[in-house]
Amino acid sequence: MALRHGFKAEANRLAVQMRRELGLGPASPLAPSRLAKHLMIPVRMFSSAIADDPRIERLLTTEWEAVSALTVHAGSRRQIWVNDSHDMGRQNSSASHEIAHALLMHPPGPALDVRGCRHWDGDIEEEADWLAGSLLITNEAAWSIARSALSPEAAMFRFGVSRRMLTWRMNMSGASARRDRSAS
Ligand SMILES: [Zn+2]
Repeated sequence: MALRHGFKAEANRLAVQMRRELGLGPASPLAPSRLAKHLMIPVRMFSSAIADDPRIERLLTTEWEAVSALTVHAGSRRQIWVNDSHDMGRQNSSASHEIAHALLMHPPGPALDVRGCRHWDGDIEEEADWLAGSLLITNEAAWSIARSALSPEAAMFRFGVSRRMLTWRMNMSGASARRDRSAS
C-alpha cells in the first residue's frame, strides 16, 4: 500500500497552512488541542466519561492498549476522544491522527469495535498517520531541529511528541540525512 502521488507534499502544505491560520511560522510547534480548537472540534478525555459509562474504565486500566483515540460522528459534527491513560506524546499522536481524518474529510468508519478506528481501511489510516506526523512536526520543523542540533529530549518536549514520532519525522522529512551530510 502506498500513499497517492503528491500526498506527502500536500500534507506538509496543510500543516504549514494550519500554522499560518494561527499566526505561527512553518517550523513552530502546534499542539493538537490548539489545532482542534481552531477547527472547532471538541476533544475529550476517556476519563471524563467514566461517570457516564463505567465500562470506559476498562479502556484506561485493564484494556488500556485497546483504543488510543476515536472520533464520534454526529451528522457533520465530530468529537474526538483521547485515551488519557497514555503518555502525552502518544495522546498527541492519537489526537493528531483523529484531526487528520477530519482535515482530510475521511468518512466515518463502521461502528467502533474494540480496535478503534485503526485498520478498517488501510489507505485512509495511512493518510491519517502521515498527516498526523506532519501536523506535529512539519518538514520545516524537522529541518530546524536538525540545524539547531536540539537534543532529542528537548525536541520531544518542544513538539510534545514521543521519541518514536520524532525519529520517524526526522527520517521521513529527510532532516536526519541532511544533518548527517552536513556533519561529515
Ligand atoms: Zn484512524
